[in-house]
Amino acid sequence: MKPLRRLFYKPLSSTLTVTSINGFHLRPAAKFATEAKQFLCDIHIEFDQKSVNAKAVNAILSLNLDRDDTFTLTAHGKDAKKAIEMLRDTFEMLMNSESDPKQIEKRSTSYQSSTLSGEIISEGIAVGSLYRFTVREVAHASLCSFEEALKESAAELERLYSHSKKDADAHIYLAQKALLLSLAEGIDTLEDFIARIEAEKEGLKNGRHATKIADLNDLLYRIKKQMGYDYQVSLPKTPFILSADDLLPSQIKILENSTVLGVVLTNGSPTSHTAILLRASGIPSLLLDNPMKREEGKVILDAYSGVIVLKPSPQDLILAFKRQNEDDKFQFEIHQNRFKPALTKKGEKINLFANVSDLASAREAKEEGAEGIGLLRSEFLFKTHKPIIRDQVKAYREIFDLFEDVTVRTLDVGGDKALPYIDILKEQNPFLGIRGIRLLKTEPKLIEEQLEAIFLAAENRPIKVMFPMISTPEEFSEAKSFALNVALEKDISIDNLRFGMMIEVPSVLFALREFNELVDFYSIGTNDLAQYLFAIERTHPTLKIDPASPILFDAIRHVMRESTKPVSLCGELAGDTRAIPQLLETGIRTLSVSGKRIGQIKNKVRDV
Ligand code: PEP
Ligand code: MG
Repeated sequence: MKPLRRLFYKPLSSTLTVTSINGFHLRPAAKFATEAKQFLCDIHIEFDQKSVNAKAVNAILSLNLDRDDTFTLTAHGKDAKKAIEMLRDTFEMLMNSESDPKQIEKRSTSYQSSTLSGEIISEGIAVGSLYRFTVREVAHASLCSFEEALKESAAELERLYSHSKKDADAHIYLAQKALLLSLAEGIDTLEDFIARIEAEKEGLKNGRHATKIADLNDLLYRIKKQMGYDYQVSLPKTPFILSADDLLPSQIKILENSTVLGVVLTNGSPTSHTAILLRASGIPSLLLDNPMKREEGKVILDAYSGVIVLKPSPQDLILAFKRQNEDDKFQFEIHQNRFKPALTKKGEKINLFANVSDLASAREAKEEGAEGIGLLRSEFLFKTHKPIIRDQVKAYREIFDLFEDVTVRTLDVGGDKALPYIDILKEQNPFLGIRGIRLLKTEPKLIEEQLEAIFLAAENRPIKVMFPMISTPEEFSEAKSFALNVALEKDISIDNLRFGMMIEVPSVLFALREFNELVDFYSIGTNDLAQYLFAIERTHPTLKIDPASPILFDAIRHVMRESTKPVSLCGELAGDTRAIPQLLETGIRTLSVSGKRIGQIKNKVRDV
């Protein structure tokens, strides 16, 4: 029975139209339902004589809302007015942010042998033997309860989200998590969950969202895996082109670690999550218009022309290899030029440094053409246990040995980065709490030992020591005095060292003149700077910071104008090729990006 007080409120409604070409699909639906849950009132979506709970992502999906469909959003209860207004805005924002999938233009084709055409999922070309995808389900003794499996699957999706580079593909994991939790509501056995999945699939089958069935299958697969079901996927050890009806998003990871050259699907959609992940992993892939009759033998998968060539002739193979060569040439050029300086068209040199987080990533960065380390995230040493000074010295020294120019950042934990062995006060807003340099107050010994280790490892090298999360000039002065004291007490000469800070707290923007008197250098951390400028948690599941926001660029420009000390930029923004022209316009001349991005960014700089 509805609470009596609800009788006092009139239901409010608004009509909304789906404008995205992808319809009201999983990702926007997950965000919408999450936002709806914040309100106390009942919220429903009415469409096609059905009314569903707008707080449940699977209920929204069951409506199969497509582009141009108009539905009614109704809210009934105390905060209904606010709910309608906010959800209307959210919906519009979600629709606008859904760009039309890139229509990949097909190159013309002139193969001699017969071809099957299809839609390009991910560009590229491959020549190899077809291999039919098969999965064998083997049930072992149940490892855990449904409840535990649900918890672990949700945690796994969360981990996948945070380990992804937070691009569009990362949000698939978050959306899947929201869908999983919503589907599992009120369910406590695998049998009931299977029944619910089957019912959902039935509802989607004849609609235009049939491709979303892969997401449902994937969730069931995740739960079953946790409960002791084993899915044996056997793939050839030698290179192959995979043919399958459709793949589950989670199976793309298995493919990434195999010798797969390309993928041919006969079901699915170029906008499905599977397709997004295939694109993200760069595997040439095609979605065929019609199934193949023969799924064996050597083929050419030309995902530039959108065809698969069956029984290719020698001339066809020559043509394919030629195209493959052109493709490889571009990547090769980037790779070849990775050690060359990045000069703009006007001949200005842009320094390309690397963000590294341990010895392996530092070595990789060197191999990728990094000219130095712009940010050594030192947290790697502290993750599982408190490291002794000797181990720290060894680890720093190994990394310092690789480059002449190294910036090492002191421990930056708190917020989203916790340490198991230090007690950080339970905070309501950890991102606004004891983070970065603020640890100096709570864990001075930890910072003292780290500084001692850095000083010992530096020896005569001109290492730069950087403090994170500085918000006031006093804080920097305190940190630097602390460091000088450590050197004095331990009798270590640090004349060769420089001390600088991250610019990632907005208050710094208003005190740059004072900071100029204190620091030797700055590095702009756009990840946190944007988080604090816009008051949007960087790991927030639904709110997203606009990386191209003019406000963020204004902040960078302001730093460049006010600073009298060298400035570099080490946030994710520096690794985004689209941001490079604008970043260089601000006057930034040193970028620090992940090792893998060095070649691409150098290539982009040469184009500006
Ligand atoms: C940043 O905040 O932009 C940054 C580079 O530091 P981190 O991502 O390690 O917080
Ligand atoms: Mg930061």
